[in-house]
Amino acid sequence: MSSGFLLTAPGKNGIIALAYYHFRRKANMDFTLSAEQKAVQEKARRMAREVKEDAVRLDRQGRFPQQILELWAKEGMFGLALPRDYGGGGYDYVTYVLAQMELAQACPSSALVLHVNHSLVGLAVNQFGTAEQKRRFLPQVAKGEVFACFALTEPEAGSDPARLKTSARAEGAGWVLSGHKNFVTSGNLARFALVAALTDPNLGSKGISAFIIDLAQTPEVTWGPPEAKLGLRGAESVSLYFDQARLPANSLLGDMNQGLKVMLAALDGARVGSAAIAVGIGRGVLAESLAYGRRREQFGQAIAQFQATQWKLADMGCDLEAAALLTLKAAWLRDQNLPYSAPRLWPKSSPPMPPCTPPWKGCKSWEATATSRTTPWNATSETPKRARSTKAPTKSCG
Ligand SMILES: Cc1cc2nc3c(=O)[nH]c(=O)nc-3n(C[C@H](O)[C@H](O)[C@H](O)COP(=O)(O)OP(=O)(O)OC[C@H]3O[C@@H](n4cnc5c(N)ncnc54)[C@H](O)[C@@H]3O)c2cc1C
Repeated sequence: MSSGFLLTAPGKNGIIALAYYHFRRKANMDFTLSAEQKAVQEKARRMAREVKEDAVRLDRQGRFPQQILELWAKEGMFGLALPRDYGGGGYDYVTYVLAQMELAQACPSSALVLHVNHSLVGLAVNQFGTAEQKRRFLPQVAKGEVFACFALTEPEAGSDPARLKTSARAEGAGWVLSGHKNFVTSGNLARFALVAALTDPNLGSKGISAFIIDLAQTPEVTWGPPEAKLGLRGAESVSLYFDQARLPANSLLGDMNQGLKVMLAALDGARVGSAAIAVGIGRGVLAESLAYGRRREQFGQAIAQFQATQWKLADMGCDLEAAALLTLKAAWLRDQNLPYSAPRLWPKSSPPMPPCTPPWKGCKSWEATATSRTTPWNATSETPKRARSTKAPTKSCG
């Protein structure tokens, strides 16, 4: 593997080309993309190029990337792996992942908003919804005509969502739902929300159900201001407050008390797409690092000419290639309906996975709390007070 390849290839289908080069003479392992996959990847790359400058400006200003999302919705990116019958593209998840690796290079915030629509909500409704729910929710989500949000996390239930406290009780022909969700991406903009709530507190985590809610029909829902995050600043994450929200009976998604399974299945699948976004962000960072290294001169030459700098860049390139391959493998397994969670992929004889030690490790240790500027150690004088908003959820990207 030459470092020349790594230094020039990011964003140019390098992984697949490299893997194909190494494996084409061996049977039973084909890394070539189909014409369809290549076409979507190329289209996403073109759209990423088109919005890149705007994306940087919007992220600096912490502004929601409405126009970028409108463009991506128009170009069919919102529904890539959702069924054609419901307005999606009908592609496989590998195609979706290839597209996200391109889109996230330019605008990670838009990629995240799209991902919540597509994978966390769209694919969950497609997997667990009734025919009526699919007809009602999927076409608008798949075409990007509305935003959707996924509300699982609560202030006391992050990594351990089984401890959530939001509850829903049956009343009349429907449900009454109350509770507080936080870190809900697009929660303030969304028309539809996938929400987890306790329907049988006596059963603990086995008494959680999932609800798919039309927020335009649910006036009892309010939200707080967007978290002031350290990154992904264009994607807005908010607290959602449900105050005795009345839901129709057909809001239940999946079986009663099977909601944790629904939410975790949605998360499990969506993690492959999240990994694609991370790869896209990494490729964007590598491209910027290369450009800077070629531009910046010290001791009479570009710093990218120093071998120590080249090693760092080559390491970044290698790690990114590995991450992209692992992500594509997981997407491919998902498409084949094979297990794709990491522990199930490691051979029993292999040593444990080496720990990841990215430079932001310390910050990552505290997850959502650390990425918010409103936490004690990140707080600034501009930190907004938590306030309920009564703004109607009318924004859409269509
Ligand atoms: C940008 C962003 C967008 C988000 N969007 C959404 C959204 O749309 N919807 C939604 O529901 N949620 C969302 N979240 C929340 C996200 O799902 C949570 O951050 C995640 O579940 C982790 O919860 P936490 O942040 O409370 O971390 P905590 O649960 O407090 O964990 C902090 C750290 O503790 C350690 N830890 C915790 N448990 C264990 C364990 N069992 N073993 C070892 N170490 C452990 C880990 O280091 C972990 O990183 C978002 C978060 C971010 C940052």
